[in-house]
Amino acid sequence: TYSLGPKIKNWNEEREIWLQTHPQFPRTVNNKPRMLLVTGSPPNPCDNPIGDHYLLKSIKNKIDYCRIHGIEIVYNMAHLDRELAGYWAKLPLIRRLMLSHPEVEWIWWMDSDALFTDMVFEIPVRKYDGFNLVVHGYPDLMFNQNSWIALNTGSFLFRNCQWSLDLLDAWAPMGPKGPIRDEAGKVLTANLKGRPAFEADDQSALIYLLISKKDEWMDKVFLENSYYLHGYWAGLVDRYEEMIDKYHPGLGDERWPFVTHFVGCKPCGSYGDYPVERCLSSMERAFNFADNQVLNLYGFRHKALLSPKIKRIRNETVKPLEYVDQFDIRRPPVQKD
Ligand code: UDP
Ligand code: MN
Repeated sequence: TYSLGPKIKNWNEEREIWLQTHPQFPRTVNNKPRMLLVTGSPPNPCDNPIGDHYLLKSIKNKIDYCRIHGIEIVYNMAHLDRELAGYWAKLPLIRRLMLSHPEVEWIWWMDSDALFTDMVFEIPVRKYDGFNLVVHGYPDLMFNQNSWIALNTGSFLFRNCQWSLDLLDAWAPMGPKGPIRDEAGKVLTANLKGRPAFEADDQSALIYLLISKKDEWMDKVFLENSYYLHGYWAGLVDRYEEMIDKYHPGLGDERWPFVTHFVGCKPCGSYGDYPVERCLSSMERAFNFADNQVLNLYGFRHKALLSPKIKRIRNETVKPLEYVDQFDIRRPPVQKD
């Protein structure tokens, strides 16, 4: 049967020893657990060339967020395992990165079609001290409704530990493309509410695993829904102006979504669930909404959310450092409480 690689049994101990013998690779950065954001796209150009432009915007958006917050980035375009091509490619990749970067405490997968839209918000990582997998989801949709959208695997965090390697091993068997993935798709459609008939996908397989082996896994899984670790784009992109009017970055929830994820849009591929024009203009809005938060430090913003053009929002000054203290996201103004 299929496996992601040789069975590793004592990763926690081995990693601990490695960390102790390699003090030049500390497990924390600025007192926070070291985090690595992983994303990627297929090895070949998009069917629709404009898709490549949006992949570029998407990685720029992630580079900006990660630079501001001290997170490292990996962009992968290879299929490390030919059997786990497509959306399953994240599994062997995450495993490889855990084993090759023992200094990293959290690996954060993010889809190429997900954008940061709150450049200030930070993952409340201490909240997950006792947990190994953090994914946006709803317990009621999972365990009472068996819904195929109970959680979303477009943006999630794995702790670098033995438990995560074991979970990846338990998650992968439905992935190999061809008859295994096709047959597994039938099982998933039969068991998950709302799931159309198609081959097994990583999201449905994870939901099915966690539902059917709840006692084995769920005590280390945090289903997060207090902020948008993943936020479904359709309900968000038309409200950005309203958010700008009423709220401010840093909230991360429906008032100012942390992540806007373009589920069902396939600007890179040939077909999706929504018209490509609607997807592209919505992505443009999300990108510029986020980019305004980045440009603010430099004294610019986009003329409108659909415009790549920018305009100046402050005059040049002979005292530039005053603006640094005021506008740099990494140096928030002193909070009064
Ligand atoms: N992906 C990848 N290589 C591939 C196919 C997909 O790295 O060959 C990544 C890409 O980041 C994508 C994610 O896997 O966003 C999920 O794949 P899916 O086909 O579900 O794409 P989406 O619906 O997110 O566009
Ligand atoms: Mn996606």
